[in-house]
Amino acid sequence: MEKINFYIPDLNPDAVKYVNTALHSGKSLFRGDFHEKCTQYFDTLFFPSKSYLVSSCTDAICMALITLELQQRDEIIIPSFTFVSVANALKNRGCQIKLADSLENSPDMDLDSVKKLITSETKAVIDVYYGGIVSEENLRIRQFCKENNLFYIADAAHLLISEQTAKTIIEIADITVFSFHETKVLNCGQGGLMVLNRNEKNKTANEIYNHGTDKFSLNISNKKFYEWTNEGLEFNLNEISCALLWSQIEGSKKIIDNLRKIVLKYNECLKALKNSGKIKNWSESDASSFCPTIMYLVLDSDENCINLKEYLSYKNIDTRQHYYPLHQSQFYREKLQQEDNCNNASNLYGQLLRLPLYNSLSQEDVITICNSILTFYGAKDSALV
Ligand SMILES: *Cc1c(COP(=O)(O)O)cnc(C)c1O
Repeated sequence: MEKINFYIPDLNPDAVKYVNTALHSGKSLFRGDFHEKCTQYFDTLFFPSKSYLVSSCTDAICMALITLELQQRDEIIIPSFTFVSVANALKNRGCQIKLADSLENSPDMDLDSVKKLITSETKAVIDVYYGGIVSEENLRIRQFCKENNLFYIADAAHLLISEQTAKTIIEIADITVFSFHETKVLNCGQGGLMVLNRNEKNKTANEIYNHGTDKFSLNISNKKFYEWTNEGLEFNLNEISCALLWSQIEGSKKIIDNLRKIVLKYNECLKALKNSGKIKNWSESDASSFCPTIMYLVLDSDENCINLKEYLSYKNIDTRQHYYPLHQSQFYREKLQQEDNCNNASNLYGQLLRLPLYNSLSQEDVITICNSILTFYGAKDSALV
């Protein structure tokens, strides 16, 4: 049987053409035409918020922290069940990392756990839209931040931007960050985006984006020089990546339509298993507003998770677990250990299994995957199917 990969990065047929154009247009490779096109696209989509194309989601988080003037000793709450670069962005800035637990059997951060971590030094929460879905719990955390005067940064690394959802997503958060890493659905190899929804910070963000200078500030025209006016770094996304990103943006509607169909097929094929109680949770979504970008199952034990993973691997189907929780990781335990209680995140590492989900995955592949899962549970020939 042919192997079903866990992930295959999408490549739009126009990608090569656009890269060629970028290279041979005789125009700048630093913020050239494609940088302009992509920026304008996001600025229009997210108007009146401002979009900054950066070289990764990690960079977008770093830029967000500087923009909001978060600094040493400020306490920032993040989920333990998230990607390590979020924690490292805080570590590099000298902020205090506070790890919150997840909900039971769900990758969403738990508001009650967040509340327990609040002190007078708490300044911000970085929440994750896991699997590209803005959940009820995300909205509750957002509301809590608003009421308590905390910045809410949304890590939308997994989220597939659509015209239908753009406005809602951006209005929820003070800053939203996205990833275009090749393991995410919309990708340019490596890239990211920071969208700022606090107009009073626009000038600061603009300076940070330009190496901490007033080079591209609106009032520069009558100045003979530009100068160091702020903190900053080289966050910019290079022109070749922007050319790739543009091809992806143009193809994104089709990708969204297709992923929706794949997820609906998964839902249909696995429904019986869920009803049988053998799976505690999964990324069940009607896919009508947000497009799911991660198809996961939360299994009933660590053992079943490993066994299913091995069984599927034997069937030539590649699956993955997800984040090793930060509170259990070596660096955190040795250097940062605080009191923590993130048992749900620990359980998720052992019990959450991600199934293949990408644009070139066929409906037949989904059926093959689901049949193998049903067979594993001895459900295929029973009334479950
Ligand atoms: C992948 C990921 C990131 C980092 O994205 P990069 O673009 O690779 O820096 C951040 N947060 C989450 C939740 C992620 O899954």
